[in-house]
Amino acid sequence: MKIGLEIHVQLPTRSKMFCSCPATGASGPNEHICPGCMGMPGTRPSLNKEAVVIGIKLARLLNCTVPDVAWFSRKIYFYPDLCRHYQITQYETPIGNAGEYYLDKKRIGITRAHLEEDPGSMKKSGDGALIDYNRSVMPLVEIVTDPDISSPAEAREFLKALLNDIRHVVDLPDDGERSIRVDCNISMAGSERCEVKNVTGLKNVERALTFEAVRQTKVIKSGGKISRETRHYDEERKVTTAARKKAFEGDYAYIGEPDLGAINVKKIADTITTKESPLNMAIRLQKEYGIDEKIAKQIVNTSVSMAALFEHLARKISAKNALMWITGPISSGWKTLESQINEKRDGITDIVIQYEKDEINRTECSMRLKAFIFGEDPENMKKNSADLDALIKKAIDENPSVISDYKKSDKAANRIIGIVMKESGGSYSSSDVVEATKRILNGMI
Ligand SMILES: [Zn+2]
Repeated sequence: MKIGLEIHVQLPTRSKMFCSCPATGASGPNEHICPGCMGMPGTRPSLNKEAVVIGIKLARLLNCTVPDVAWFSRKIYFYPDLCRHYQITQYETPIGNAGEYYLDKKRIGITRAHLEEDPGSMKKSGDGALIDYNRSVMPLVEIVTDPDISSPAEAREFLKALLNDIRHVVDLPDDGERSIRVDCNISMAGSERCEVKNVTGLKNVERALTFEAVRQTKVIKSGGKISRETRHYDEERKVTTAARKKAFEGDYAYIGEPDLGAINVKKIADTITTKESPLNMAIRLQKEYGIDEKIAKQIVNTSVSMAALFEHLARKISAKNALMWITGPISSGWKTLESQINEKRDGITDIVIQYEKDEINRTECSMRLKAFIFGEDPENMKKNSADLDALIKKAIDENPSVISDYKKSDKAANRIIGIVMKESGGSYSSSDVVEATKRILNGMI
């Protein structure tokens, strides 16, 4: 099974792509329109630079080559939602060319990423249709992947990771998922491909592709042939239906767009610094600090600022110890720490440096970090922890068989944890009790 996706991402610009109409906030249909985005004779497009800037950022995220100079083309076709009867798009010089994206170790080739305008939106009404041109000339980037995706679930996973990365690079609004439309191309071994157009939402992409995989397999098994066609996905009935025979790219006429001329992309690109995507950050941390791939991803996925804290510490102390403190006390106190990280970063650094210089031992360092994160008095915490240790030791003394049971299975610790939780009447957090019990039992076996 081969799957390739064409992902249309609506760009969060303030105004439309080739006119000054606002890009958001219309309260009703056909409110944000002007002669330009209505394609009136005599109007000329003028390019919104903001769209080019975002296009370059996305192209870089996808590790694409960005051209120095780009042109737009007119893609000519007739449809009521396209009032000029041609769509301004990039054909020969897309903003991003031949990139790649890694989903774990799986490489997904990016054929291209190009800028284009959206047509209006049309909905059926009785025998006719209603057209809303608010969407006309809204900026899009279309990301086209190679047919490297091997299952509907992988397609969903890829889109999820990609969207997450895109959100870090550009400020895509939270409802971005719905403003992302995907054309899904799927073919079974050696057979023609079908394209399911305009699917919105990750779940629907997986469902539409699964439906197609089953349908196509059935057709082939019963001796039929898959014909190349465009299909629609019906969200309510959860099926795809034939729309029209697929138009080949050659069926469209493209001519250069003379009104916009050559775009000096390099000049714009040289002024942009791109934020690092979480995925690229994980890959870099792994390489630069020699940490395990899975752990690097885990830290970045928990929070980019936790990953930044790791990096900050790894520059002051050894990466190995920085990782130990991050995955230990810092990670368990992260909920509390996250909102205060800017004020507390230096304090945390000071504590771990003391351990690095052998001024305090590991238990002491761990205790001080916890106290500092939760804003508690370390002496008090020490006393509490000693009290807790005493309670646990007493429970073990009274139930000595736990030690031999614990050797066979970790689960034996639960007996002691249960007793201590009950006796202490909830004055210790369960995670503290679990940690201390395991530490003490491990020291006994
Ligand atoms: Zn307009």
